[in-house]
Amino acid sequence: MTPQMRNKRKYMEDDEVIVLDHVSKAYGTNQPALCDVSLRIKKGEFVFIVGDSGSGKSTLIKLLLRELVPTEGNVYVLDYNLKKIRHGRIPKFRRNIGVVFQDFRLLKDRSVYENVAFAQRIIQMPGKEIRKNVPKILSTVGLAGKYRVKPNRLSGGEQQRVAIARALVNKPCILLADEPTGNLDPKNSMEIMKLLEEINENGTTVIMVTHNKDIVNAMQKRVITLKKGVVIGDQERGVYIDED
Ligand code: ADP
Ligand code: MG
Repeated sequence: MTPQMRNKRKYMEDDEVIVLDHVSKAYGTNQPALCDVSLRIKKGEFVFIVGDSGSGKSTLIKLLLRELVPTEGNVYVLDYNLKKIRHGRIPKFRRNIGVVFQDFRLLKDRSVYENVAFAQRIIQMPGKEIRKNVPKILSTVGLAGKYRVKPNRLSGGEQQRVAIARALVNKPCILLADEPTGNLDPKNSMEIMKLLEEINENGTTVIMVTHNKDIVNAMQKRVITLKKGVVIGDQERGVYIDED
C-alpha cells in the first residue's frame, strides 16, 4: 500500500473521489477566494458548481488540479493528498483528470487529430495505441470525418468537442469543465451537455462550472452554489439558486 492510499483510507470513503476538508484559499492579503469549504464527491457523480463571477469557482477547479494549494485545509483527489504530493508526482496525478475550458485552448496550427493525439504523446502512449484511440474518441464526440481540419475551420461547438476528446483520450476518472458552454449558443450548449451526460453515464465523474441557469435546471443534477467563496447550497437534483 502506498502512502497516498493510506491517506485515502483515512480521509475518504471507498466510493469517494474528491474530498475538501475545511479548505480556504486566499490570494495574498485579499479576502479569501474560498472560505472554509468542505465537500465530498462520489465516483460517478455529475456535479454543477454555480455562483456569480468572482465567487471562487475557478479557484476550486485549480485546487482540484493542484495548480493551487490551499491556504488552509486539505484537498484529497483519488488516491492523493494534494497538500503532501511530491512535485515529481504531480504530472502522474494529473493524468487522472481531464480538463475543459470555456475558450477551448486548442493548438490552432494543428489538425483535429493532432490536437487529440498530442495528449497521448505527452504520456508516451505507443503510436499504435494512438492510432487506435484517437479515431475512437473522435467518433464518440461526433467528429469522425473531421480529422484533418484545423480548429479555426470548425464551429465553436465542434471546437469544444475536440477539447473534450482531448480531455478524455487518456481515460481520466474525473472530468473538470470550467464554463465549457460559456462561448456557445444555446443549441451547441445543449449538445455539449448531452455529450457530458453520456460521458458521465459511462462512469466518468463530471464536475462542471457554469453560469447557465437553463442548463442547470434542465439537467437535474447535484448543484453546489458558491457565494463570495462560501458554499451556500448543495442540493441533489438541484436548481440554480437565483440570488436577485
Ligand atoms: P470565479 O471563477 O467564480 O469567477 P475565481 O475563482 O476566478 O472566481 O476568483 C475568486 C476571487 O479570487 C475573485 O475575487 C478574484 O478576483 C480572485 N482571484 C482569482 N485569481 C486570482 C489571482 N491569481 N490573484 C489574485 N486574486 C485572484
Ligand atoms: Mg471562473
